[in-house]
Amino acid sequence: TPAIRIRDLVKRYAPAGQGEGKLALSGVSFDVPQGQIFGLLGPNGAGKSTLINTLAGLVMKSSGTVEIWGHNIDHAQRNAKACIGIVPQEIVFDPFFTPIEVLEIQAGLYGVPKAMRRSMELLRAVHLADKANAYARSLSGGMKRRLLIAKAMVHSPPILVLDEPTAGVDVELRRQLWELVGELNSQGVTVVLTTHYLEEAEQLCDRIAIINHGKLITDKPTRELVEMA
Ligand code: ADP
Ligand code: ADP
Repeated sequence: TPAIRIRDLVKRYAPAGQGEGKLALSGVSFDVPQGQIFGLLGPNGAGKSTLINTLAGLVMKSSGTVEIWGHNIDHAQRNAKACIGIVPQEIVFDPFFTPIEVLEIQAGLYGVPKAMRRSMELLRAVHLADKANAYARSLSGGMKRRLLIAKAMVHSPPILVLDEPTAGVDVELRRQLWELVGELNSQGVTVVLTTHYLEEAEQLCDRIAIINHGKLITDKPTRELVEMA
């Protein structure tokens, strides 16, 4: 069973006024095998965020199916929440919270036992242990992104979903974030990420799906895609 199986997924946003509403996904199907890093590559407005938000149960689909390890998430939103950690595109921390507080609060929300120990373990995993008690506002952009990843992993989800994890980040930081995603993957986490950088998809992903105008254009192992180009 693949970690994620998506079939004929359609999302039409409700119309703002008259008319049909925006068709953001028009029949998308793909599988993400367990243990892979799967990249959704496409330009702005292609439907990447809509796709992963629907997958994560944050956006209501119009039709089609989303299965997580064979379980239809229609009937098990809680299952999706337990199985998936989400790294949003926007960085949203209270500037006066510290990394350890951010993680302990998140651990509390998920009922994670030994919150303090788990939080410190995560800070070490994302190389932020020395910033445990610094105000979030004093962290660099890259540190904040690493904290976002730690926050998404607090309840040890087997699937990590990242929305444009390196948008607007410089080359050096991008490489650090790639390394971190690779480390989590090597510990068994299945990863889905969106990007509009071809290089990022090539370097990081085992498999790449290209999306444009709400449709998948290709979905291939990275090696095959690179050989074709
Ligand atoms: P991407 O992440 O690839 O940039 P999005 O999924 O954000 O693409 O957007 C896909 C399309 O759906 C775009 O045309 C966008 O304007 C539209 N869209 C996204 N969110 C909403 C929304 N909440 N309401 C209406 N239209 C939306
Ligand atoms: P992305 O960077 O993924 O393309 P956007 O910057 O287009 O996302 O959108 C940011 C937020 O605004 C998202 O939450 C998206 O759902 C929402 N949004 C995008 N397009 C529209 C739209 N046409 N109408 C309403 N909300 C939208």
